Amino acid sequence: MSAGDELLRFWAKQIMESLSDEEAVGRITADRFVVLRRNGGEEALRKDDKVLGPVRTYFMDRGKENRVLLCGGVYVVTPADRQQINIDHMMDRASMEEKKVRDTRNEGYEFYNPEQWEKGKQVADIINHLPAAIKSGGLHVWYQPQVNYETRKITGAEALCRWDHDKVGFLYPSDFISVLEESGLIYDLDCFVWDKVCQDLHRWNEQGIRRSVSVNVSRCDIREDRDIPGQFSRLIQKYGITPDQLRIEITETAFAENPDLLISNTNKLRELGFQVEMDDFGSGYSSLHMLKEVPVDRIKLDLHFLTSSGDQKKSRTIVGCMIQMVELLEMKMIAEGVETVGQAKFLHDQGCSEMQGYYFYKPMPAEEFEKLREDI
Ligand code: C2E
Ligand code: MG
Ligand code: MG
Repeated sequence: MSAGDELLRFWAKQIMESLSDEEAVGRITADRFVVLRRNGGEEALRKDDKVLGPVRTYFMDRGKENRVLLCGGVYVVTPADRQQINIDHMMDRASMEEKKVRDTRNEGYEFYNPEQWEKGKQVADIINHLPAAIKSGGLHVWYQPQVNYETRKITGAEALCRWDHDKVGFLYPSDFISVLEESGLIYDLDCFVWDKVCQDLHRWNEQGIRRSVSVNVSRCDIREDRDIPGQFSRLIQKYGITPDQLRIEITETAFAENPDLLISNTNKLRELGFQVEMDDFGSGYSSLHMLKEVPVDRIKLDLHFLTSSGDQKKSRTIVGCMIQMVELLEMKMIAEGVETVGQAKFLHDQGCSEMQGYYFYKPMPAEEFEKLREDI
């Protein structure tokens, strides 16, 4: 009994030292513990092994022959569990897996829901590799040209990030933006992209090509009240470019979440001479109210949301009226997601000539964008 107590105390000490502030451990009964851990992927499992190794050999390290067998069951918490937390349910399932291992008289662990674990592992992998990707050049900024349909000239571009991930391969923003937003890392990525864009603008200025580029600002950057105007001021000083070369894209959803912060950031940015654009207009719920409250320079109408489903005739009417309304409000407009000549012609007939979309160009690496002539 006393040798067993000694081992349990040792185990508890080892595990507690390895936990972060957001993790927890508890003893249920006898030699059964429950641990709540973050899914840290393979790295965390290796770390666990380092902690459990000395427990396994505890007696042998002290000259005795008893080997300790460790069995575990893992239940991976799902998004649904977060909605409705039921600890007994999760522990029962972990316990069931642990029993399976124990019954084999082997040691190790089994997963109740391995698919969920795999998903979490991928997310952990993305998060763990962001700093390395920034350093090693795995992150790229691509440009999608914006054109004036009437003059046939390139009037700017939107900077969009791409990630050539060591393990997972080539990633599009839809694979990692939300993961980075959830884990609080999106600002690091955005700062990298903004820096790279200013660097490119400076190089193009030196070559005598003056461009303006739209950059994305995550709604989380607004919510966390990062000093966005300060960051952009520092960047234009660092690279000797002018503020009118940057168009700052803020999404409509940021307005729904934090109207006051969004308005104060927009005002500050515009006072400093930057252009501010409302991204993805037409995709959210607060559009009309937002139009009245936020003093942006340009509205980016997302054609995709308006034309993908429903009555086409109605969609065209809505788009036409929106263009008129934005014009009457003395704001500029650009349509994004333009895929066909029909859409381009329609937009132009309705009075919107600035466009971005696959019909003209897909996003491309900086070197390719550089080579484009002004006329399309
Ligand atoms: P967004 O800002 O609305 O960017 C436009 C997206 O539409 C881009 O997707 C672009 O490739 C795509 N697109 C352009 N033309 C067409 C078209 O004709 N048809 C269709 N179906 N799609 C078109 P991408 O590059 O995958 O980016 C997706 C979203 O990820 C962006 O939407 C933006 O919200 C976010 N994002 C991209 N780069 C960054 C970044 O550096 N920082 C932040 N915070 N978000 C970013
Ligand atoms: Mg955008
Ligand atoms: Mg957009």
